[in-house]
Amino acid sequence: MGRRVYFPSVAFLCLSISGCSSGSRIPVVEQTKMAMGTFFTVALYGPVETHRAEEAISAAFDTIEAVEAWASGKLPGSEISLLAQYAGKETVRVSSDLDSLLRLAQQVSSASEGAFDVTVGALTHLWGFEDSPSLPPDSGAVDSARALVGYRELCRGPRGVFLPRPGMRLDLGAIAKGWAVDRAFELLRARGFADLVVDGGGDLRIASSSVTAGKRRVWVRHPRRAGEYFARFPLDSGAVATSGDYERYFLCKGRRFHHILDPRTGWPAWSCASVTVTGPSTALCDAWATAIFVLGPEKGLQAARRIPGLQALVVSEHAGRLYWEATEELAAILEVLDAQAVRGFPSSSLSEP
Ligand code: AMP
Ligand code: MG
Repeated sequence: MGRRVYFPSVAFLCLSISGCSSGSRIPVVEQTKMAMGTFFTVALYGPVETHRAEEAISAAFDTIEAVEAWASGKLPGSEISLLAQYAGKETVRVSSDLDSLLRLAQQVSSASEGAFDVTVGALTHLWGFEDSPSLPPDSGAVDSARALVGYRELCRGPRGVFLPRPGMRLDLGAIAKGWAVDRAFELLRARGFADLVVDGGGDLRIASSSVTAGKRRVWVRHPRRAGEYFARFPLDSGAVATSGDYERYFLCKGRRFHHILDPRTGWPAWSCASVTVTGPSTALCDAWATAIFVLGPEKGLQAARRIPGLQALVVSEHAGRLYWEATEELAAILEVLDAQAVRGFPSSSLSEP
């Protein structure tokens, strides 16, 4: 029986190609498959040879499944599971792919001062969002788990990776999907495909040719109305990722408890509803979407402005109303579809909740 591997998020974004009349329909070979707990779609556009395209798409899915196999904390024997098992005991030899992912993760952790932290595993394990909880854990347990989080303690060396204290564990849920999208995208580019989309549950990477240039729109999901869109913007090439508080959550005493945790408090990060990031790679966007979400609207957008090539849209909710702001380049091309949403954040919302 297949084991369900948990990587959160279902399509936060959707992609459309507009302006194609039936007379000028663009040929596409595409496949959608479940991986990392979400739907991945790989699509190759333009006049491609079907057999060659299908073979390449199948290789792309193999790549995605290979990432899933080492990145999952639920699969016994995966590199992430072994790291948890040997925490406080031994260095674990890891693949160069995982080592490279951890290097990127550490960079984002330092630049976000720990808002993004893949050593958050003890906390996410305690909250257990994959098991659909309905109550928060008690605060003593949150404090104990929080004490086991700290990206600075993660040792990467020539012999492997070491988590220095028993109970420490990694959780790659905020970056692995983006990483898998990038690996699949690079494989397809190396095989000569120039017009393509790899979409891992809304975390995606695009390249366009002259056939599709100017026609692609990224649609940002509405954080409070299922099935509706908050905004859209054009994108020809690059990556997009979104973090949202509406994906895995429960309501308790009128409060929304969701899966994006603030490693500094051990509790959900409460100042954003969704964050969408565009940039050069999906892993970078994925990690920064989570980091900005935790940092909150003001500090998050400040951090985004310091990262070359990154653009961000932040949506937050206050007293039942949605507020948004975006970095300059994205704001210039963004079309907000929710007519009630207000640009800018109320000053009362910018302090810690
Ligand atoms: P995303 O949807 O990309 O924001 O990823 C959210 C997932 O990342 C959660 O379900 C956890 O598995 C993990 N996570 C939660 N909080 C953090 C955090 N502060 N830093 C890194 N990973 C986190
Ligand atoms: Mg993320």
